[in-house]
Amino acid sequence: MPNPKLILAPGRERSLERRHPWVFASAIARTDGSPKPGDTVDVYSAHGKFLARAAYSHPSQIRARVWSWSQDEEIDSAFIARRLAAAIDSRRKLNLPSDGMRLVHAESDGLPGIVVDQYGSAIVLQCLSWGAERWREAVADALMELCQPAVIIERSDADVRELEGLPPRVGVLRGAQPTQPVLVNEAGLQFEVDLSGGHKTGFYLDQRANRILAGSLAAGREVLDCFSYTGGFATHMLQGGATRVTLVDDSAAALQLAARNLERNGLAADKAEFIDGDAFQVLRRFRDSGRQFDVVVLDPPKFAPTRATAERAARGYKDINLLALKLLRPGGHLLTFSCSGGVDAALFQKIVAGAALDAGIDARIIGRLSQGADHPVALNFPEGEYLKGLLIEVS
Ligand code: SAH
Repeated sequence: MPNPKLILAPGRERSLERRHPWVFASAIARTDGSPKPGDTVDVYSAHGKFLARAAYSHPSQIRARVWSWSQDEEIDSAFIARRLAAAIDSRRKLNLPSDGMRLVHAESDGLPGIVVDQYGSAIVLQCLSWGAERWREAVADALMELCQPAVIIERSDADVRELEGLPPRVGVLRGAQPTQPVLVNEAGLQFEVDLSGGHKTGFYLDQRANRILAGSLAAGREVLDCFSYTGGFATHMLQGGATRVTLVDDSAAALQLAARNLERNGLAADKAEFIDGDAFQVLRRFRDSGRQFDVVVLDPPKFAPTRATAERAARGYKDINLLALKLLRPGGHLLTFSCSGGVDAALFQKIVAGAALDAGIDARIIGRLSQGADHPVALNFPEGEYLKGLLIEVS
């Protein structure tokens, strides 16, 4: 049986011809056959030219996501296994200083909607689209074969599933729930990861290189880890010789795990201060009481998931960056991040520049920061680049 067909409106084939892997509902003129969500469909231009083979997603506005540009490639378990093997092979070559890494980064690995993170012998899978949902068992089987993990945990509870009309799902997919805390070893430091209840898949793997960088800047300095989560930056900075670290987060559970992480690495708890509160308010309080730091890390959650929300997000970023810059001693460093898809690197730099101007502070960029190499960005899919950061030095 041939696959159902999506026929695009005239002129709407351009983005697929540039190999962008999304087909928007608005581009589709006609559907031949009655595909169900997750089914494989063939996408054609108005002139009848084959464009791509894709996974159908209804009711998402991203109505189909491309699996393959070839009419000769069948989408089956073997296809899924081949793509997974290629992604995992590319990670193994990176020799990352960690046993925690993203093995599969969705569209950028040719596997739309599929995210796979490894934490030692545990694997966490996220299925974020109908196509991913359809091939979930095949993905799990292939991962068992390729990686032999002790457990595969599913964390298909990200907000984006709502846009697909998919309910959240969390649980053990293969193997057994670990009885001991799952640990990841990052550049010689151990972090406990909450795979079932933590943010994302449990840990912010994308910040690995930036945490190591922060550690290298910390010797002899007083540092602030704002939006600390489980203390990734703080732990690296204490290890790097910080004299004192202050962690701010509004999640008590994250701060408790951060305290355990410091302890696990034999780092002195009396050098750490934990503040459970809203970072916007805490930063204001610090400013009003004249507190100063030598290094500040600002790693807030996503303020703008889409371009439509970018304006409000820009105000939030400007606010915290302005406050953070005011807390820095002369010669101090700010590592500031945005993981908002709706705010690109150029806009983010503009926002930070505006914050420095309003703060009356002379500062320069001495580093441009991004997600790690295990979070690749396919050249035909710029949306894959979501984390941007600046290392700023104040004069
Ligand atoms: N830097 C961390 C990741 C930070 S994720 C790491 O490397 O692991 C963002 C964190 O911000 C989350 O832990 C979340 O609990 C926290 N958060 C979100 N909104 C906040 C707010 N208004 N004030 C303080 N913390 C907040």
